[in-house]
Amino acid sequence: MHPTLAGDLDRLPELLQSVRDFAARELSDIGERPVATAAPAPPAGPLPAAGVGASGALERFAERWGPGFSGSAGPRYLGFVTGGATPAALAGDWLTGAYDQNGSSGGGSTSDALERETVGWLRELFGLTEAHAGAFVSGATMSNTVGLAVAREWLGERLGVSVARSGAAALGPVHVLSGSPHSSITKALSVLGVGRDALRTVPLLGGEREAVDVDRLAEALEALDGRPAIVVANAGTVNTVDFDDLRAIAALKERYDFWLHVDAAFGAFAALSPDHAGLVDGLDAADSICVDLHKWLNVPYDAAVQFTRRQDLQVRVFHNESPYLGLPTGTPDFLHLTPENSRRLRALAAWFSLTAYGREGHAEIVARCAALARRLGEGVAAVPGLRLLAPVRLNVVCLTLAEDPTAERLAALARAVAGSGEAFLTPTVLHGTPALRAAFSNWRTTEADTDRVRDALARAVRDLPARADA
Ligand SMILES: *Cc1c(COP(=O)(O)O)cnc(C)c1O
Repeated sequence: MHPTLAGDLDRLPELLQSVRDFAARELSDIGERPVATAAPAPPAGPLPAAGVGASGALERFAERWGPGFSGSAGPRYLGFVTGGATPAALAGDWLTGAYDQNGSSGGGSTSDALERETVGWLRELFGLTEAHAGAFVSGATMSNTVGLAVAREWLGERLGVSVARSGAAALGPVHVLSGSPHSSITKALSVLGVGRDALRTVPLLGGEREAVDVDRLAEALEALDGRPAIVVANAGTVNTVDFDDLRAIAALKERYDFWLHVDAAFGAFAALSPDHAGLVDGLDAADSICVDLHKWLNVPYDAAVQFTRRQDLQVRVFHNESPYLGLPTGTPDFLHLTPENSRRLRALAAWFSLTAYGREGHAEIVARCAALARRLGEGVAAVPGLRLLAPVRLNVVCLTLAEDPTAERLAALARAVAGSGEAFLTPTVLHGTPALRAAFSNWRTTEADTDRVRDALARAVRDLPARADA
C-alpha cells in the first residue's frame, strides 16, 4: 500500500473526526455567511503527483474551494427549488459513503430491502396505493425520464410493437400533451428518441394560471382520433406552483387512450399539509409519477423517486440482459428498473430523515415553508416598486418590478440581492413578464429569515437605477 494511503488507514478515526469538526464549523454559521458568492473560482491546479494525504486535502479544500461554495444548504437560498439536508439526512448520507453499498441488487447485503422499505414509506407519505412500485433515481429529470420511458413502452404495447427491441422509430409519430411542462420533459423526450418536437402544449386556464385547461386537453385528445398518447400533468409548476386538475385529467381516460405521467417534483409534498392536500387530489390515478427528494424532503443531492403502476413495462425497458445476472423473477433488482446498473444507496439519507422526524416532522417543514412563502408574499406586496405576479399557492413567491419590468432590470435586482449576501433568488418569465422567484423548501428557514429576504429586496429595489441603461 502506498505509504500515504497506509498512513490514512492508520489514522482513519482521527481523520473522520477532523472532517466532522470542519463540517460542524461550516454548518454552524451557514445562516450568516453570504448566501451566494460572486468571487471567481481559483484557477485549476495541476494533478498532484505525490498526494498530501487526507488531512492535507482537507486543508487545501478549506483554503482554495470552501470559501467560494454557496450557502445553498442554508435558510435564505431561495433560488430554483433548493432543499437543504436535515441533520438525520446528512448522517444517512455520510453513512452511505462509509458503507459504500452497491444499490444495484442485494448482492450479499440487505441494503436493497432498505430501499424498498423507504420507497414504501414515500408512497404512503404522498398518499399513493400499493399499485405504485418505485425506485430511487438521481433527480426529477431522471425520474421524469424513467416515467416517460415506461410511457413509451406502453405506447408500443398499444400499437403492437416492442420499443425496447425495435427502437422508438417503430412507434411512428408520438403525441405528448402538456400544459406547463418543466424543461426536463423535453430533455427527457430528446434522450428517449421521441424527440423534443413531440411535445404539444395545450392552452392554460388563462390569466396568471399555469394549469392546463382540461376542456382544451380533451379537445386535443379527441383530435388524435383514437391514437394513444402521453399526457404529462403538472403538479406544482416552478413559476407559480400551479396544479393541473389531476382528477379531471384522470377522468378523461374513460374516453381517451393515454398514459398519464405526473411531474410532482415538489408539488407532491402538498399531500403532507391538510390545507394544501386537495391540490394533489387524484395523484394516485397517475400511471407514473416523479417526485424529487433533494428539494422538499431535504436530503442531500442527489435523490428522487419515480413511481409507476406498470413495473412490468419498466423491466422491459431497463432490464440488464446478461448471462451472469439472469432474468429477473419476482421482485426485480433495482438494476433492472433504472438507467444505472451500479448505483449509490440514495435511499439511506431519506430513510434516516423519515425515521428521525416521521410524517409529522416532514409535514411541519412543508407547512412552515408554505406559511413563510405567504409571509414573504404579503411583505413583497407592501414594498413600493414590487408587485406579485400570482397568488402564493404553496411555497413560491413570483414577483416583478412595478415599473419597467425588463429582463435586464430583473437580472440587476437579482444580482443586487445576491450581492448583499442576504438572499438568492432566480429569474424567470411568466407569460411574457420577466420576474423573480423565491422558493421556500429548506428545513431551516424561519420568519426572521423571511423578513431579511423582504428587507434585502426592498433595499435592492430602492437602489435600482430607474432604467437598465441608467
Ligand atoms: C426541479 C424540477 C425538475 C427537475 O429536477 P432535477 O432534480 O433538477 O432533475 C423537474 N420538474 C419540476 C416540476 C421541478 O421542480
